[in-house]
Amino acid sequence: MKKTLIDKLCCPMDKKALQLRIFKKDDEEIIEGLFTCTECGRYYPVVHGLPIMTPDEYREKALEEPILNKWGIAPRHKDPKRFLLEG
Ligand SMILES: [Zn+2]
Repeated sequence: MKKTLIDKLCCPMDKKALQLRIFKKDDEEIIEGLFTCTECGRYYPVVHGLPIMTPDEYREKALEEPILNKWGIAPRHKDPKRFLLEG
């Protein structure tokens, strides 16, 4: 995704601002990264240049966890229906 898109994205659940951690990028594009909502704490990975900005019910934890683990991030497991980062 283009770096200029970052400021235009917000949390799909509550429309609040997102923080981005970048793990891989080139001159113009974010290749891999992780958005975190400043309000609800949900995370949204950027994989192969595509931000995964889908509501909880359409996401698949099993598909996302290997990616997060690769970045050294452990999601919270308490509520399997929510996509929250470890405090
Ligand atoms: Zn949120």
